[in-house]
Amino acid sequence: MIRLDKFLADTGYGTRSKTKQLVRSGAVLINGEKASSSDVKINPESDIVTVNGKTAAYEEFEYYMLNKPAGVISASTDRVEKTVVDLITEKKRRDLFPVGRLDRDTEGLLIITNDGMLANRLLAPGKHVDKVYKVIVTGRLDEEDVDAFKEGLDIGDEKLTKPAVLSIIKITEESTIDETTIDVIIADETAVDETMAEETTVDETTVDETMAEDIRAEEITTEAEVTITEGRFHQVKRMFEARGHKVIYLKRLSMGRLKLDESLPTGEYRKLTEEEKKMLL
Ligand code: URA
Repeated sequence: MIRLDKFLADTGYGTRSKTKQLVRSGAVLINGEKASSSDVKINPESDIVTVNGKTAAYEEFEYYMLNKPAGVISASTDRVEKTVVDLITEKKRRDLFPVGRLDRDTEGLLIITNDGMLANRLLAPGKHVDKVYKVIVTGRLDEEDVDAFKEGLDIGDEKLTKPAVLSIIKITEESTIDETTIDVIIADETAVDETMAEETTVDETTVDETMAEDIRAEEITTEAEVTITEGRFHQVKRMFEARGHKVIYLKRLSMGRLKLDESLPTGEYRKLTEEEKKMLL
């Protein structure tokens, strides 16, 4: 049993004070009878609540698949920046969060939900859920890189990374990176550096231009897919860095058995199907 005002807020009728007004206006019926007050208790399973004649459908949990675009942060709310939850414009619940994090410049599969148990199941360190990423890196990857990923890499943490599968897809001799992507990479790198550095004495414009030149200068790039089972900070980027390659594009393609819907344009989302939800159990 839950209070009517909470029920209405959870079904997308606004804040509790807004729902109180709705009840006072007489727009809300419970099983055909006008609701007397917003603090009456109702059973979301069996009571039928209507607002202006429309049935309010209660879902305790919402589950969305987002094809995250670059440039938004993996957080629920932020005073300044656009978050992945802001992109879910049709959400009803106000307690949604992303399951795990993708870097600001990473694209691809992100689950947005308010189901904390699901998030724990997917992210618990002992769970080792496979995550597959498409990656484009500077330089030429080869079989030595494949073996090194399999063996585990020293990325500066206490322990080596767990065995990862690296599959080389395509080596391109010409740089395909555009200026916007370069800006996003630099903005992301500088954001991390700024949080770590106590004070910086170098001229930031020169540093940015040098980084941009380095990125542009890389003529050869390799497209690959990598499967990891952990979720360490900047893990994929640091793994390639440990092998001397810089990640210039990163997109998550799957998490466990759940695959990113290829028909979902970047920046768009949809609800998970029942079948997809079961894949995450
Ligand atoms: N690894 C990274 O380095 N970044 C991501 O966003 C995800 C995995």
